Amino acid sequence: TRLRPSNKRCAVIGGSGFLGRHLVEKLLDRGYSVSVFDIRQSYELSGVTFHQGDLCDKQALLPAMKDVSLVFHCASPAPACDDRRLFERVNIQGTRTVIQACIEAGVQKLVLTSSASVVFEGTDIKNGKEDLPYAKKPIDYYTETKIEQEKLVLEACDKEKGFLTVAIRPHGIFGPRDPQLVPILVDTARKGKMNDGTNLVDFTFVENVVHGHILAAERLRPDSPICGKPYHITNDEPIRF
Ligand code: NAD
Repeated sequence: TRLRPSNKRCAVIGGSGFLGRHLVEKLLDRGYSVSVFDIRQSYELSGVTFHQGDLCDKQALLPAMKDVSLVFHCASPAPACDDRRLFERVNIQGTRTVIQACIEAGVQKLVLTSSASVVFEGTDIKNGKEDLPYAKKPIDYYTETKIEQEKLVLEACDKEKGFLTVAIRPHGIFGPRDPQLVPILVDTARKGKMNDGTNLVDFTFVENVVHGHILAAERLRPDSPICGKPYHITNDEPIRF
């Protein structure tokens, strides 16, 4: 069954970011109308309404969720900023606020952008499945807060209340307008600080990550096995890097 047109209103929290903007563009292509919520506005696009604010502020979030049935949450402080307090405030407290705002606004589905690093213990993982446990010693504080964030969102899934959630776990997203991954790799290489090329790394093209988010959103229904579950999203095979 196709979604009714009135159900094709969605909000993208973090929609000004690298992944968020690609997601917004694809959603428009697929006939959705989109509200973007972000602390900054980085572009203009017809069919998109921008709401500028901090996701830790429920009153700021609510107008962006008005008449919206589906919310994507892909906002996070950049991993490189290394600011513990900020990660905790935005990824943990802020995600609680996002969930509360969704429930208050009558949103039916929440799709979280998590990270594959939530299961990474510092050693290579081959053919890792979603049943791997969360890392006991996350590699950094960003990842520690991504774990807590994912748990909050998946535990909030409640079929009785009609609030459904799912999480997508990408790793190493690349593609047009990538502000972080490739520039940081190039910079590291120029400084001669690359590792020995033996680490197993998974890189994913941004359009595949977007596709995974939209499929998850469209498959998320009360009778669906994906309710409250995380999904790794990857291109194909990881590579030695
Ligand atoms: P990005 O920095 O380009 O986008 C993040 C957006 O979130 C930015 O536009 C920023 O302004 C916004 N934001 C940050 N704090 C906010 C706040 N308090 N309130 C409202 N908006 C806020 O990063 P990205 O690479 O597009 O990452 C998107 C998501 O994907 C994040 O959740 C990240 O953890 C996840 N992720 C990214 C990668 C990657 O390789 N880029 C890998 C795994 C997971």
